[in-house]
Amino acid sequence: MMGKCALCGEDKELQLSHIIPKFIGKYLKNTSIGNIRSHENPNRIAQDIEKHYMLCHDCEELFSASERYFANTVFYPYKRDKHETFNYDEKLFYFLTSLSWRSLYLDIVNFVREKSLKLDVIERMIEAEGIMRDFLLSKRTDLSNIEHHIFFFERIMNVNAPDDNLLKTGRPHTTIHRSLTSYSGYSDNTIYTISNLMGIVVVTLYSKDVDEIWKNTQVFNEKNILVAANQEVQSRLGNEFVFWMEQCEKDINVISEETEQKILKKVMDLGDDIKDYAIYQDIVDDNQLEN
Ligand SMILES: [Zn+2]
Repeated sequence: MMGKCALCGEDKELQLSHIIPKFIGKYLKNTSIGNIRSHENPNRIAQDIEKHYMLCHDCEELFSASERYFANTVFYPYKRDKHETFNYDEKLFYFLTSLSWRSLYLDIVNFVREKSLKLDVIERMIEAEGIMRDFLLSKRTDLSNIEHHIFFFERIMNVNAPDDNLLKTGRPHTTIHRSLTSYSGYSDNTIYTISNLMGIVVVTLYSKDVDEIWKNTQVFNEKNILVAANQEVQSRLGNEFVFWMEQCEKDINVISEETEQKILKKVMDLGDDIKDYAIYQDIVDDNQLEN
């Protein structure tokens, strides 16, 4: 398919691009007991995660090196090898920029079409998209006041608010560790793109309200260390976690009897082998919250 590349702007043949890197979708598939189900129709099996005609071959190539870097520096060490400390360099910052930029670019197209956002929010998003695009094309070396954060969603040991039923029944561990998503939004003066990569939550802040707290989460455009411990986030984005759990609860309610039986059968067939799957610990943790 021919068209204008979203990054370099040239008329070229466009590739079918993934918003969330392909290797992450594969990893989710390979570590799942059942099949991947999408939110739109949880009774159907999603063939693949979201794809769009967006970038030319050269621009795809530009992104793939930093994608591999993220895979080997953060994603696999954290998910598979259970590491907690990550030494990184500028390539991580580049990857995060490319991830949020792809997502923001498509969101802006939709927001503008649907006229669904306040003017000052959409203006800031468009400005941020341009800054990130220039950075990705090496036309500038910084992102001004745009911030990248990685928040590692670990285990919730207890639910502090006793009236927060959703946290108890929304299966936060299973939901957040077993799902992929990426989108942009705003709340008060905080404007952002958020991506959940199976519990590695990437947040890019285009503007930040005064009382937001993000401790030990920021990724800088330099050699540095990120640690998946002692992170503290007090943010309007907490609502997104609640939203994911609500969606998951809804999905559970619309899953048909037949699908439920199929999933159950797969789990039963595994017997003790289920303990080899990462989801096993998530189910145990969620059950502990419910009791
Ligand atoms: Zn291009």
